Amino acid sequence: MAATTIKKVTIEPVDVPLEHPFTIAIGVQYAIKTALITVTLENGVVGYGEAAPLESINGENQATVLATLHSCKEFLLGKDVADYRKISRHLKGVFWAQVTARCAVEMAMLDAFTKSVGLPLYKFLGGMEDKIETDYTVDIVTPAMARDNAAKLAAKGYRLLKIKVGKNIAEDIDRILAVTQGAPACGITLDANQGFSPMEAINFLEQLKKHNLHPVLFEQPVVKHDLMGMRFVKDHSFIPIAADESVFTPADAINVARAGCADVINIKLMKSGIVDALDIAAIARSANLKLMIGCMLETRLGLACSVHFAAGLGGFGFVDLDPHINPDHDPFTGGPDFGDPLYRLTDVPGIGVSKR
Ligand SMILES: [Mg+2]
Repeated sequence: MAATTIKKVTIEPVDVPLEHPFTIAIGVQYAIKTALITVTLENGVVGYGEAAPLESINGENQATVLATLHSCKEFLLGKDVADYRKISRHLKGVFWAQVTARCAVEMAMLDAFTKSVGLPLYKFLGGMEDKIETDYTVDIVTPAMARDNAAKLAAKGYRLLKIKVGKNIAEDIDRILAVTQGAPACGITLDANQGFSPMEAINFLEQLKKHNLHPVLFEQPVVKHDLMGMRFVKDHSFIPIAADESVFTPADAINVARAGCADVINIKLMKSGIVDALDIAAIARSANLKLMIGCMLETRLGLACSVHFAAGLGGFGFVDLDPHINPDHDPFTGGPDFGDPLYRLTDVPGIGVSKR
């Protein structure tokens, strides 16, 4: 039996309250509710994987990811994590719609495997960069709060702020203006989370111009399956357009490239899993689309895995991996050195996080 064979699997919920509710166009979150899978190998190495579902985005929630992970348990016992692609392909065939749960299994296998071979995950993925810089998100709050948050983030060292929009154009413009007043030196990106119709998105862009606002990116202006609507927005936009919710799979990435509806693809491991995210990145690069990486509301474990992914592959022009948990409340510790706004990778093997 290989030393990298899985001999034990444990599955548990992870609940962390947020200090402030987080509001975007498609809902409000009050807590981080994820699931943790832990695999222990014959060689004693332990690998961790997190599933961070967001029901309004990927149709999964904490209960469904826990159920899916429990369904995978028997299958995983006795499998060799060195065969992570084979295992991942099998699970995709069975649980094709449960991508967030599958991502956790892939994460745990890759964490355990790279620990076993003594490599940090980002080195295993190619080691292109050893640090990345993230933006920070200002969610849908009052203009006064947005101004205050922006000023605090700029003082911490963040140079790019992402502003959630897509609920009400007039209020969105007021909030963007408030952010630019609070942090005049920061660049801004906008994320509508599918909140606009194509015409509303174009009106919104006109309003931005009128107020002399020049964001560097406009993410997912319209509903995810309306690629022609997104193309219409892109054709009338003075800002690059990013596809986020429109791209879950490598096939989605090809459709976005064919439709010519975006300049950037936002990869999130929780939308595609890690193995398919590698294909999406390859498709985006080949189609001359820029790469972005984002996250759901995740603990340090999921976030750290995305940091390894982006640094290992390199070339991510937009990094949106901002932590939303107070580190004192995070069930995990370690991983990359999480500075504001620079994340530095370390030589610790695997993802490098451990349970507190
Ligand atoms: Mg987004």
